[in-house]
Order: sequence, then structure tokens, then C-alpha cells
Amino acid sequence: MCFLSPTPRSVLQEVFGYDSFRGPQQAIVEHVTAGGDALVLMPTGGGKSLCYQIPAIVRQQQGHGCTIVVSPLIALMHDQVGALHEAGVEAAFLNSSLGYEQAQEVEWRLQSGQITLLYVAPERLVTPRFLGLLDALYAQGQLALFAIDEAHCVSQWGHDFRPEYRQLALLHERYAGVPRLALTATADDLTRADMVQGLHLQNAQQFISSFDRPNIRYRIVEKKDAFAQLLRFIQHEHAGDAGVVYAQSRRRVEELAEKLQREGIHALPYHAGLPPDVRAGNQHRFLREEGVVMVATIAFGMGIDKPDVRFVAHVDMPKNIESYYQETGRAGRDGLPAQAWMAYGLSDVVNQRRMIDEGEAEEAFKTVLRGKLDALLTLAEATDCRRQRLLAYFGEASGPCGNCDNCLQPPAVWDGTDAARKLLSTIYRVHQKSALTFGAGHIMDVLRGKDSDKVRQYGHDGLSTFGVGAQYSEAQLRAVMRQLLATGALGLHKVTSDNSGHVFDTLVLTDASRAVLQGQMQVLLRESVAAARTRRPKGTPANVAAQDLGPDAQARFINLKAWRSEVAKAHDLPAYVIFHDATLAAIAEQNPQSLQALQGISGIGAKKLEAYGAEVLAVLARSQ
Ligand code: ADP
Ligand code: ZN
Repeated sequence: MCFLSPTPRSVLQEVFGYDSFRGPQQAIVEHVTAGGDALVLMPTGGGKSLCYQIPAIVRQQQGHGCTIVVSPLIALMHDQVGALHEAGVEAAFLNSSLGYEQAQEVEWRLQSGQITLLYVAPERLVTPRFLGLLDALYAQGQLALFAIDEAHCVSQWGHDFRPEYRQLALLHERYAGVPRLALTATADDLTRADMVQGLHLQNAQQFISSFDRPNIRYRIVEKKDAFAQLLRFIQHEHAGDAGVVYAQSRRRVEELAEKLQREGIHALPYHAGLPPDVRAGNQHRFLREEGVVMVATIAFGMGIDKPDVRFVAHVDMPKNIESYYQETGRAGRDGLPAQAWMAYGLSDVVNQRRMIDEGEAEEAFKTVLRGKLDALLTLAEATDCRRQRLLAYFGEASGPCGNCDNCLQPPAVWDGTDAARKLLSTIYRVHQKSALTFGAGHIMDVLRGKDSDKVRQYGHDGLSTFGVGAQYSEAQLRAVMRQLLATGALGLHKVTSDNSGHVFDTLVLTDASRAVLQGQMQVLLRESVAAARTRRPKGTPANVAAQDLGPDAQARFINLKAWRSEVAKAHDLPAYVIFHDATLAAIAEQNPQSLQALQGISGIGAKKLEAYGAEVLAVLARSQ
């Protein structure tokens, strides 16, 4: 590709086919193109790639040579480079998937100045051989830029920590004067400080975007039968859509994937315990095929840039808001409506608490973990705007969003203070009377005045709180218990049964119980409502990008998709790399009759127009 005097804007329009920069992209691109260092914090889907791809193209045209992109995601490099080829950009990758000769050819192209962007894994970058190549380029002034993607991998705090990222500090010393750009979607202060320190970015300009993802609808439902709820959610609201379902354990992942398959859903499992080829195969299918639901542990997701993931569902609660936000952020990168759905129940509180208690961490660290869990529990129990709370957690002020469950359908709230006090005093009395411990079910029986064998056996029908909570349903009392546990006003204590040796959790009062018992703390709870069913009206397409199209445009959209899928197969690339759904929908709607008319559509750059323009027009002509 040759420009007389390429500017960031002309590259954006000509090469990528987009009208305008998004958010802070322009400022970042200009700063880096001019040779400045930068640290970019942008949410998933914010458009980080263009922040280094455009400077790479412009700087190369200015005679500065090649941009090196450091990425930990070997499995995804092929598609990233493929997407650049589709846009007419000279790109390549070097990683362990290449044979010796292929790698040599890439090295040769690098040395002879034919590559605009080279993707490498950090462990490859720091090998003497590769550093030797870089030294030679540097000596000739042919190193344009280092882009360090997923830069949070340098931080030991996150679960993505990669020790090799620590060695990237050498870039600063060895290649002084070559601009460096570090990018991440991880927002917290601790990680940011680690990146600045670990990558020597003290003098870099920081670009921090809003972390809001307005197109994602957040919903947290009360867990009853997680699988049935998940199935209903997918069948009623996301039939045929691509999505990710996160579950806690490998066993649960496999079980859920299998059950979904049995219900006719195109579901695949992904977790670190699967053989590498199965894992890679499933990821490949998720990226290539339409409408795959990936059921996964947290091992899945980093760097997956599939833009049309329509939902992320959690059937188990993650361990903190950072994880929740990162995982849900994988939905809707294309900016079209997407949902983050989570089923949450008493068992999640118990399990997550137990995992921390039984973990190997030091006590001080456990206190941090508990604090982080509590913040997520508060979000799950919230009766006001979820997004406002999420953003507040990341230090961003905002108003009610209008696109979360609580905004769309404000929950009826009931005052559970009385129920909470009665519950706590029942726990106190039951345990005062005998040294034995009792589970939640028995406590509720006493409170509701149930005449059970166990109640009679222990004489609990004689307690002053027996039956004082008869007006509450079991569901209501469970909700009270969950919230008391979530806020720490009730604790769990592990006991071993004398008879069976079975370990179980029993409820105990905590210091914070007193405030509730003394009426100093109000307990507000959401009314448990039957899940509102939102079904797609009959006859509307499953594809959100195309849902506003008329019948003729619909037909064109379907034909365009069929054509795209052929091209993608032939190029061994995911369909979205050829054209996004949104681009196909715009073509279908505008029905352009000439190359010139086609050119104005967002997502069609010069190379794609040249490569596919005539074919697209032919598909449209056939669809008349
Ligand atoms: P991130 O890496 O921050 O998650 P990407 O770089 O993958 O985000 O971009 C997300 C999506 O948004 C991509 O599909 C990309 O093509 C699109 N995109 C990025 N910048 C723009 C822009 N200025 N105009 C239109 N689409 C854009
Ligand atoms: Zn809201």
C-alpha cells in the first residue's frame, strides 16, 4: 500500500475503512506516531489494535521500519495477521507453530524491510537470536515501535501473570529512543503501577478510557436450578448466538457442555485439563463456526477478539469484580447489543468463602480476597443500577444506566430487617440450648414453626422464637440468609458430624450480627420475582446486526453471509475477519450498485474493496 503522505486519519479510512476514531484512539495514535511512549487502558472492545496498527503503518511509510507486537497469545496470532493481510497490510508472526524454513523466511522478510507489523511471543523476543535481529534493525534505524499487548501479564497480581513479561524491561535499555506502547483492558491501580514499573514506563503518557461498555446489559438472577435457567436464557434470548458460559470447575464445564448439547445447543467445553489439541480445536471452532457456545473455566478468553459474542453467562459466581468485568467484557466487542448474565445463590457465597478459607494464601492476603469477594456480593445483592456500581468500583462516577436488570425492571424491595432479627435470634437460641450445631433448614423450620421430628427431638418448639417467622416463606428466609452472609452479619462455621464424619457448614453469629439484632442496620431485599421472559418475536432474525432490516434487505444479508462464509473458509480465517456482521448489514440495507457506492460503507477499506467489491455487487445482483 502506498500513500503520498499518510496521516493517521487517511490510514484509518483507506486501510481500515472506518470514518472516524473512537474515544481516545486519535490522541493515542498521534502521540505514538510522533514517537512518544504510552500506556493505554481501554476496555475490551474499545479498539486497542488500531492504536498500534495505525502508528505502525504511518511510521513505516515515514521510513522508521518495522513495528514489533509482543503478544502472549500464540494461538491467536495467525488470525490477527490474517486480518491485517485482508486489509492489505504486510504483517507476519514468529512463534513455535512455524517450521524452521517458514521462520527463516519471516526473518529474511524482516531484515529486508518488508514487514510492517511482526507479532512475537515474549519468550521468543528475548532469545539471543531474535535480539540479534532486532539489534541489526536498530542499528539501521529500522525499529519503528514496540507494542506490548496484554501488558497486565507483567503483574503478579492477576491470574495472567507471565514471567517473561518481566524481561521486557530490556527493550527500554537496549533500544533507547524506540517508542513503546503498552496496552491492557485491566483497570485496577495495582496492575497499572506494576506495568509502569515492570516495563519502565515512568515517562509514558497514560491514556485511560472510560471502562463503560454501554451495549452490554448486566443481569444477575437468583439461582434456583442453574442449568434450567441457563437453558431458558439461551433458548429464549440467544438461540443461534455465539456465547461463553463460565463455570467454576472442570467437571462442571464438561457436564454443562454435555447437557446443552443434549438440548440441541452447539456447545463445546474448554478447560486447562483437556488435551491441548482438543482445547485448540474447540477454540478454533468457536472462532470459525457460527453460533458456538463455549462452556469454559477462566482458562478461556484472554485475547479472544471474536467481535460477535452475544452473551457471557456465569452459572457460578467469579471470585471478584475484576474477573467478572473482564469475563463479561468478552461480549459485544462489535458494539451491538449483548448480555452479561449471572445466576447467583447462597451456594456461591458459601463456596467462594470456603475457597478463600481453605486456600494456601497468607492471612493478610486472605483478608484482601475476602474484601474483593464482598464487593462482588454487594453487587449481586444490589437493588439499584449495576453498571453504576461496577463503574464506581473502578473509580468512575456515572448515573443509572437504563440498560441493566435493575434499571429496566426496578425490583420490588421489601424490608427484611424483622425477618433478619428473628433469624439471628433463632440461631442464637438454638445453639445456646445445646452444644450441637444445626443447619440452615432446621433453623428455618424453627422460625416458621414447623412441627418436624427434629424440632420435637431437641425441644426447639419450646423456644421463644418458635414460629415467630411463620409469615415468611422459605424463599424469603433464604434470601435474608444470603444477604446476611454476603454482608458478613452471619458467618459460617465448619463442623464435623459425630455420626457420619461428614463435614458441613453451620451458621454462626458474628460481630456484625449485633448491629442487625439491635435494629441498627436495615436489611433491604429484592422481592423474588418470577423471571420475566423476553422472547424474540416470531419471524425476527436471530442476528442482532440485521434485526432492523426489511424483508428484502434480510434476503440480501443472508446471501452475503453465505458468500462470506465461503471466502472465510477458502482463506482459513474467521468470517468476521473478512467483514463484520455490521458491515454486511449496512451493505444489505444500502444495496449499493457500484464500487463507488460500496466504498462509503464502514468497514470496507481500499484492499477489501479491490478484493471483494465486484463479488459483493454480484451477490447483491443475484439477490434482487
Ligand atoms: P480491543 O482489542 O480493545 O478489545 P479491538 O481492537 O479488537 O478491541 O476492536 C474492537 C472492534 O472494534 C474491532 O472489531 C474493530 O474493528 C472495531 N473498531 C476499532 N476501532 C474502530 C473505529 N474507529 N471505527 C469502527 N470500528 C472500530
Ligand atoms: Zn443500570
